Amino acid sequence: MSASPPITRDTEVWYHDGNVVLVAEDVAFRVHRSILEASKSAVFRTLFEVPQPLPAAADHLDGCPVVHVSDCAYDMREFLAVLYSGPRAFAPSATYTLPKLLAVARLSHKYELEDVLAAATARLAAGEFPLSFATWDAHQSAAGSDADAVRLAQAIPAVNLFRRIGRHDLLPAAYYHCYRLPARALLEGRRCPESGVLERFTSAEALAECIAIRDTFFQNQGWMFRGFAEIEMEGGGGHQEDCERLWGDFHDAQRNFSSACWSVDSGFGLLASRREEFAPFERCEQCYSRLTERWDALRQDMWTWLPVICGLPHIEGWDTTSDDGDLSE
Ligand SMILES: [Zn+2]
Repeated sequence: MSASPPITRDTEVWYHDGNVVLVAEDVAFRVHRSILEASKSAVFRTLFEVPQPLPAAADHLDGCPVVHVSDCAYDMREFLAVLYSGPRAFAPSATYTLPKLLAVARLSHKYELEDVLAAATARLAAGEFPLSFATWDAHQSAAGSDADAVRLAQAIPAVNLFRRIGRHDLLPAAYYHCYRLPARALLEGRRCPESGVLERFTSAEALAECIAIRDTFFQNQGWMFRGFAEIEMEGGGGHQEDCERLWGDFHDAQRNFSSACWSVDSGFGLLASRREEFAPFERCEQCYSRLTERWDALRQDMWTWLPVICGLPHIEGWDTTSDDGDLSE
């Protein structure tokens, strides 16, 4: 007979006057049945109706009936926090990290809380997984480099979730982050530094699709980087003393295709701003704007084509500001 791991009382969601204990993994959450029922989740209602497995002695903790759920403890903690916040949960002042938003979205879908799911996905669409390039760019620049490790670790669960809930409009940015992951991470999963959860594809089909999309990204990145490497310094006056040398360095770096790819963020940052890389040119306005404008135009093109690269059907409202050509131009 194998012993179950000991159950830990959660330090955040443990109400001393709670009257039911939810156990997710080996973490117990003592909550109020009335709060769960007020959420109008049909799934919660059913959970309380279904008798829990025997032995009866294990069915109580601190005098409260225990209900075992199959969710991970991290997800359940964040989800319960939202239920307890009620309408204030998504007030403009309430901030959420990406793992928390995805956790809340996952469980609100599972427990059939449509309004919570809508609020969580609206936040995701306004930040990490937008339809417009401008929103993408503003959010990515503001989030900082620490955010990237979390973002990359959440790429796989984001794809899992958006496929499950049928939100194809949120998938392009999620697939883009998957393409930035090493192939091994797609196969074996990646642990989120924030939640500690090893995030993996939930179906072989999703994994296969992601690998196929990754190939299409690789085919497209060649066009994009070649188009950028061919850009030359403008003739005429007005340049700084070292412009010519900087352009020489730039072309050397671009000629080394792999270093050009990897120098942009971590992984192939086709949609990254590269502003740090262009910083040496800042003293010459003419050269700096030539580089940044060209790269931004290529990024915008890439964004326009993102749903096509991901093999997705037409997305209503997708940003097609720059739809006047393909990436090879
Ligand atoms: Zn110059």
